[in-house]
Amino acid sequence: MPKHIISGLKYLAAVELRKNGYNQNQIAEILDMNRSTVSHYLNGRNISVNSVEVAEVIRDFCRKDFLTMVYTLLKDVNQTRTIVKICSNTSYKSNIGNSCIACGICSDACMMNAVVLDDLKAKINDEFCCGCLICGEMCPTNSITITEVK
Ligand code: SF4
Ligand code: SF4
Repeated sequence: MPKHIISGLKYLAAVELRKNGYNQNQIAEILDMNRSTVSHYLNGRNISVNSVEVAEVIRDFCRKDFLTMVYTLLKDVNQTRTIVKICSNTSYKSNIGNSCIACGICSDACMMNAVVLDDLKAKINDEFCCGCLICGEMCPTNSITITEVK
């Protein structure tokens, strides 16, 4: 079953990329698939309706649950980051307050690998952030603000 769900998620990501003008070769490279599979997916072949429906339900979970589910299925940070960012289709802006004590809890917790410690302060790469808010929930000094960019 997990493999079918991953196929469904890759299908959703492939469709999203196609909508944004990527060709089949580029989609194959981004999603780590072979080009003929991408072609089949985009033409509605070799993908079960059930897989797509389950993937759509997961995609519509809150950001935290979606990220956690994708990470659990893929067990790979880079692939998780790719699928979640493409399927989420939303940008976020972060701010770290001066109360940050550089404990590193946020960077350890971030499944998107979006947080680093730099010059005794956490820094978030907004390009990778998916707005799951896990870092903010775990920060002992309430230093993290994440806002959706409209
Ligand atoms: S968890 Fe909070 S205090 Fe700790 S490094 Fe991250 S932002 Fe700073
Ligand atoms: S909200 Fe925090 S934990 Fe979630 S992806 Fe963004 S930086 Fe990582």
